[in-house]
Amino acid sequence: MKQFAVIGNPIKHSLSPILHNWVFKFLSIKANYRKIHVSEDEIPNIIKEIRDGSISGINVTIPYKESIIRYIDEINPRSIAIGSINCIMKSQSKLIGNNTDWFGFCKTIEKNQIKIREKNVFLFGAGGTAKAIIFALKQLGVNKIYLFNRTVSKANKLKDNIVSPHHYNELDNLINQDSILVNTTSVGMQSNDSPIKLGLINKQNILIDVIYNPLETCFIKYGNSIGAKTINGLEMFIFQALASLDLWFGESITKQVNFQQIKTYLEENIC
Ligand code: NAP
Repeated sequence: MKQFAVIGNPIKHSLSPILHNWVFKFLSIKANYRKIHVSEDEIPNIIKEIRDGSISGINVTIPYKESIIRYIDEINPRSIAIGSINCIMKSQSKLIGNNTDWFGFCKTIEKNQIKIREKNVFLFGAGGTAKAIIFALKQLGVNKIYLFNRTVSKANKLKDNIVSPHHYNELDNLINQDSILVNTTSVGMQSNDSPIKLGLINKQNILIDVIYNPLETCFIKYGNSIGAKTINGLEMFIFQALASLDLWFGESITKQVNFQQIKTYLEENIC
């Protein structure tokens, strides 16, 4: 039986095993997917398991999407441009790194009919997921990305003609009525905190949170309470996971999966 896993720290929040094992069962694939809590110094052991074939593919989550790249033999050009990977597989004798987060984000934007072209987006966070979303927003024709991060030096490294890093204390003056706000930080995943002061959010803003567990973070809950359009991270999560499966199995095996069916199943399984 083929083995797959997601690695990260923390990892408790991850719904990846529930999603992937549901798909394996649905498609009658003999495989198992589990979550593995991994500390930085345990990463080489996991890499060894993929190299020797004990594990056929892994997803990578917080906080290793960037640091794991140094263990990988080859990453595809798109992932090089992004600078982070979330999906690893072995092809012949090489470990290949890929990024499916950017695709998951693009599909979510498309599904929810959000216009990004020539818009300004406020992005919170500058980690692995932020990099994938910056790439996706550029593909979608964004005008400008105002980037905010706790560690300002990390945001500064992403500066270019579209990405403009700012301090959180500048947000009050920059945010406006029709801003699109995207949280890519992990703030709200394990606490009832918001990445920004809630008082800055207004009804015309569109709020997107990449966190899917809980389904309603403090940020999303507040948006809902004032009648703003909100999107949690669940759809992005499903799209990126299905894209990983297609990469591992080398074909579009997930075409047969009913998106709404899996979404409902996951919503019922979030605790
Ligand atoms: P990461 O690379 O470790 O980056 C974490 C980001 O959060 C950094 O910008 C970090 O700021 C910021 N942050 C963490 N704690 C903070 C705090 N207390 N206050 C302010 N900022 C804080 O992690 P990642 O892989 O990008 O993942 C980020 C989140 O996205 C996680 O919750 C993950 O589950 C979620 N995610 C969801 C999907 C999906 O499909 N829906 C896909 C990928 C990731 P510093 O730079 O200052 O440390």
